[in-house]
Amino acid sequence: MPVEVDLHLHTTQSDGRLTPMQLVQLVAGKRLKVVAITDHDITDGLEEAYEAAKAFPQLTIIPGVELSTDIPGNEVHMLGLYVDYQDAYFQETLAHFREGRVGRAREMVDRLAALGMPVDWERVVQIAGEGAIGRPHIAQALVEKGYFQYPQEAFENYLGRNGLAYAEREKMTPQEAVRLIRGAGGVAAIAHPASLFGLDNLLAQLKAAGMQGMEVHYAEYDGPVRTRLADAAKRHGLVPCGGSDYHAFGTPGERLPGDLGPPMQTAVRLRELAHANARERAAWRS
Ligand code: AMP
Ligand code: ZN
Ligand code: FE
Ligand code: FE
Repeated sequence: MPVEVDLHLHTTQSDGRLTPMQLVQLVAGKRLKVVAITDHDITDGLEEAYEAAKAFPQLTIIPGVELSTDIPGNEVHMLGLYVDYQDAYFQETLAHFREGRVGRAREMVDRLAALGMPVDWERVVQIAGEGAIGRPHIAQALVEKGYFQYPQEAFENYLGRNGLAYAEREKMTPQEAVRLIRGAGGVAAIAHPASLFGLDNLLAQLKAAGMQGMEVHYAEYDGPVRTRLADAAKRHGLVPCGGSDYHAFGTPGERLPGDLGPPMQTAVRLRELAHANARERAAWRS
């Protein structure tokens, strides 16, 4: 069966390298039928994507977002699928967390300079463009300066969570992210959970907090990992989601849209959940 669904994609509105229009053209060319655009802390790519998708009536775009959250010792990413991105409170909250990204990126650039790897702040801002600024933009600036061959290498010792230049920023808890997503009528699904410590416990907690899905069919994961995650999803009653987490970084071995994704049944189930959630959303705002 060809892959028809990809529920995890980034654009230039966050740290992806394709514009929403370019991404839509790519996934349509790969004959994907349902895709979710899930930029970090921003949904501003959706309007352009919907405009571009008019040329591809067979393609459905799910409005999504990926929220970075923190638990002690770990970063948890929470996908919001079928979010009402026009909701004012939802947008105000995203804007607040995007602001935190700017000061923190600046701090990392300062730390890199102190470590003997100066990059121009203006250049980092330029690379980030109009979207949500993030570590991959700094990594790209470091590559341009010749400190590394690939952005990935900048994460190893410098930009990764335990890296020398890493700086924290204000983040929500995963429970707060679930609440924000449910308040916008969306379905919350934990992203790339395989490496999280104490996963079973965390899934139980987040399920109780209103999370309804988890990534299983994640292109980076091999068969045994996906089987383990599929079992966990079943045990906890979570919809098995997934996709490529495509950024168009151009790194060797990068997974592409269409490489792996959940079955169409997942997309159908998510839409049903979103319909039900839309009726209950007010309860998540009180
Ligand atoms: P930020 O949103 O600024 O915290 O950056 C998060 C993004 O950086 C992720 O979505 C990945 O694209 C990238 N990233 C995080 N950790 C690594 C890593 N160890 N290697 C390569 N890319 C990473
Ligand atoms: Zn990203
Ligand atoms: Fe992520
Ligand atoms: Fe992602």
